[in-house]
This record gives sequence, structure tokens and C-alpha cells, in this order.
Amino acid sequence: MNPAFQLSRLQKIDSEIDQITLRQQEIARMISDQTVIDEIKERISTLDADLKAASKILKNIEEKNDRLQMKLQEDEHALYGGKIRLPRELQDLQNEIASVKNQISDHDEAQINSMLQIEELEKNKEKLLKELAEAESTFATRVAGLKGENTSLEKKRDNLLTERNAAVQNLDSSFLEKYETLRKIKRGLAVSVVVDQACTACGSTLTPSDWQAARSPERLVTCSSCGRILYAG
Ligand SMILES: [Zn+2]
Repeated sequence: MNPAFQLSRLQKIDSEIDQITLRQQEIARMISDQTVIDEIKERISTLDADLKAASKILKNIEEKNDRLQMKLQEDEHALYGGKIRLPRELQDLQNEIASVKNQISDHDEAQINSMLQIEELEKNKEKLLKELAEAESTFATRVAGLKGENTSLEKKRDNLLTERNAAVQNLDSSFLEKYETLRKIKRGLAVSVVVDQACTACGSTLTPSDWQAARSPERLVTCSSCGRILYAG
């Protein structure tokens, strides 16, 4: 059988297997790439830290407020209890009550602001959790599709390997060796088809004698420019 034809058949099979391998590598990379999900998780953990800090601030304000309320009660109790009679002392106590009331009013405002801030952060977190759920569901759908594609590629590869075994069966081992060596050094393409008397791999035009030789069914001719095995069809 024409060795150039046999090798061109082998090349076609191997090129298809190479493409399948490339696509499978791409699929494996896409399946393991969770960048989008990781980014959202990162934003959620930043928000959690902000929420924790804001809650601590709110707790502080509430505790201070409790202490001030207690102080106010005590002062008012003293004021209306009738035990303090001296006008000077009464005046001091009234001044203190006014000052505590002012502080309470300031703290109330701070408390409201702090609560509003926490509410805002919680809303943002809710939004992000929704975003995360959507991203995870999109990713899962995508992964399922990619796994399906991978399974059919696997079947295709098995078929091609069977075809390949048949293709190399009657091939002279020295030709096969030459082919394998060229595959390694010529980025997978060992056999080049000749079209219009030119090598389609490198584009150079064949000399009339090479062209003649390439069409001979028994001989194996290589391109004088790129070194690939020529198949003249
Ligand atoms: Zn060439």
C-alpha cells in the first residue's frame, strides 16, 4: 500500500486525537477554575469582618447608654427623693442631669447610625449570598455540560485509537518511526498534503522532480523546505 497515503491517514487520526487532548485539557482547566465563586466568597468574608466590627461598636454604644440611663435614674431619684436640700447641691445635681441627658441624646444618635450601618451591611451580604448561589448554580450547570462533552470526547478518542491501531497494522516500521520522529519535532504535523504542487504545511513549491517523486505510490518523499512527509493525494 502507498506509504504516504497510509501515513496521511495516520496523521489525520493523530491530529484529531491531538485536538481532543487539547479540548480535554481546556475542559479540565475550566472545571477547576472557580475564580468567580472565590471572588464572591472573598467579598462575603470581608463583609463579615465589617459586620463583626460594626456589631462590636454597637454593643459598646448600647452598654454606655445603659450606664448613662442608670446614672440618670440615680440622679433623678436623688433629686426627687428630698434628701438633698442645699440649693448649691440641687443646682449641681440638675446640671449633672442635664449633662447626662445630653450624653444620652448623643449616644442615641450614634446608636441609630450604627444600627443603620449594620442594616446596610446585612443587605449587602444578602445580595452577595444571592449572587453566590447564582454563580454556583451557573457553574454547576456549566460543569455538567463540560463533563458530558468530556465523556463524548473520551468515546471519540477510543474510536480513533481503534482506527489508529488498524492504520499502523500494515505500515513499515521504519516509515512509522520516521513519522513519529517528525511528529515530535514538527509540532504534531509530520505529513503535509500537496496542493497545486506546493507543500501546504510550509507553502513552498515543489521542484518538478520532487513533485514527480511525491506522486509515486511506493516512495516516501519529504519536503525539501520543512522536512515533512509529502502526500500528493
Ligand atoms: Zn514543507
